[in-house]
Amino acid sequence: MGELRDFVSDVLEIEGSAVEAVEPDGLEVLAPEPLRTAMDWPELVRLGFGAELPAGAVAVGFEGDWLDRFGALLRDRGRWAERQLVLPDPMPRIAYPERLLDHALDLPNAIWRLHDVSTAWARCLLLAFRYTAVSDEKREGLVWLGFNQGTGAVIDDVLARLRPLLAADTEWQVPDPDVRRAAGPAWDAPTLEARVRPLLKHRVRLEMEPFLRTMRRRLDRDRNRIHEYHNDLHLVAQRKLASLAGASGEKAEGDRKREMLRIAAIEREYSAKLDDLRRNYALHVTIEWAQGLELFVPVQRFEVLIKRRKGERLIRIDWHPTVRLMEPPPSDWGLGLERSRFVCDDHLHITDAAGQSPCPSCGRAWCRGCHPTACPRCGQSIKSLG
Ligand SMILES: [Zn+2]
Ligand SMILES: [Zn+2]
Repeated sequence: MGELRDFVSDVLEIEGSAVEAVEPDGLEVLAPEPLRTAMDWPELVRLGFGAELPAGAVAVGFEGDWLDRFGALLRDRGRWAERQLVLPDPMPRIAYPERLLDHALDLPNAIWRLHDVSTAWARCLLLAFRYTAVSDEKREGLVWLGFNQGTGAVIDDVLARLRPLLAADTEWQVPDPDVRRAAGPAWDAPTLEARVRPLLKHRVRLEMEPFLRTMRRRLDRDRNRIHEYHNDLHLVAQRKLASLAGASGEKAEGDRKREMLRIAAIEREYSAKLDDLRRNYALHVTIEWAQGLELFVPVQRFEVLIKRRKGERLIRIDWHPTVRLMEPPPSDWGLGLERSRFVCDDHLHITDAAGQSPCPSCGRAWCRGCHPTACPRCGQSIKSLG
């Protein structure tokens, strides 16, 4: 419970309270207005976080609406932050830059040449999104995305190693104006949206896969049960009806009619039960932005010349000394998660393998960077990314 107590203590101090730790596992809070009214507390309140409470303390825990109430105090503060990362040691020199690039770059249809390596500041964007999936059960989770706005790379691996570092290090340095300038501009809204949307969709889908799998299993089980039950009833009624086939007379006619009505009723009920099932298992997913962090990090920036036939273009790839990782190359089309890139003939777009693959309809390979919506030969439209 220590983390919750620290969090509450921080929030209450931000709100102007005087906070003191009391044993066991509690806080004594001198709460000013409007905090007092917002939380419905007296001026002096004791909060307890452990199984054992200090004398006269209010129990605070993860259950109930405590997190929502403290979250409401924060409003939008803490949703967006900027930070500059300072290296504890001088930037390591890279002895064999080509070797590093060799691992980072896989260009099956192009060649590359190292143009330059220099120290630089990268403007990285870390975004957290909360997703909620509701069907017969509920599943919530958090998805993090990371981009290097200076190179265009998706930096998930770098991010995964950076986040524990960020959490451990309490030293927050506000970005220096010079560093900010050196790191170049942030993405504009359309670029951000174009990059975030497909990757977010992909990531949430991956996260939800186990949930969807078990949901489908439950759905199948329920559907089979309903089917079996109604199928049995149906068979019995059918058999009865068949046994009446030879009989004549008013009574037999009445029995036949009754069985036929029974069969119709069974079929109606079966289809109504399936409708219920469909409603019960309908999936609603909502995704909302939770947090953003713009991180200015020192990097070794590789400028690489990419050559394809007679054309060439320069791209940037950063090596992150804080986590000793090379980021994947940028991608003009596709999610940019794998390392392999293909280069197009006409405009030297750099894409995932799928970005240069043959048209499923006419078989001609084409660049999705040049023609993002449809095959230029047969007009077959492509489904959007993600
Ligand atoms: Zn085609
Ligand atoms: Zn192209």
